[in-house]
Amino acid sequence: MYILVVEDERRLAQLVARVLAEEGHTVDTAYDGEDGLAMALEASHDVIILDVMLPAMDGLEVCQSLRRSKVDTPILLLTALDSVEDRVRGLDAGADDYLPKPFAFQELLARVRALGRRKVQAREPSELRVDDLSLDLRRRRAERTGRVIELSPKEFSLLEFLMRNEGRVVTRTQILDHLWGYDYETDSNLVDVYVAYLRRKVDRGHNRRLIRTVRGVGYALGD
Ligand code: CA
Repeated sequence: MYILVVEDERRLAQLVARVLAEEGHTVDTAYDGEDGLAMALEASHDVIILDVMLPAMDGLEVCQSLRRSKVDTPILLLTALDSVEDRVRGLDAGADDYLPKPFAFQELLARVRALGRRKVQAREPSELRVDDLSLDLRRRRAERTGRVIELSPKEFSLLEFLMRNEGRVVTRTQILDHLWGYDYETDSNLVDVYVAYLRRKVDRGHNRRLIRTVRGVGYALGD
């Protein structure tokens, strides 16, 4: 994972960074709140480890500022304070977890792993959207300009595959592998047939055609 450590006690910061690096993580380190905030806004970290008592700007302010800027990276607060009230203040500021100092590195690593997993889950979208076409992955429903498009399960999977690869050309072979998972004769026109079905349902009646044929290669959805 890509982790940001914001801690003004340099020795501790470097130790934490080293322990994380030994676990295979890539680590950025900041020694005050302002630098930490700037680094967090600039890059997309998987987890931020944030000390509360920091010069320039304290950890809670950094936390609030990130959440206001719509940065949803999981934040683990580190602090010497450990009262219920402090914990609540930390969580209210938008932190995800809280670890009082002094802590064992094993525990820090375990918390970081747990936060990393949470981020991966949160990232998995429940809806894909390209232009005015949307695909609700939970309800397995497609809509374009607000109108529901009736799709068979295979058509749904094909559309999902094209939308996940928005703007990229996918070959017939990739589509076959993904949807049917076993070898068809390479000259099979199965893919073309399904794309034709899908195109009729998705693009017919719309000025903007979303599904493109890339001659001799495959298909693409979106620009
Ligand atoms: Ca500190």
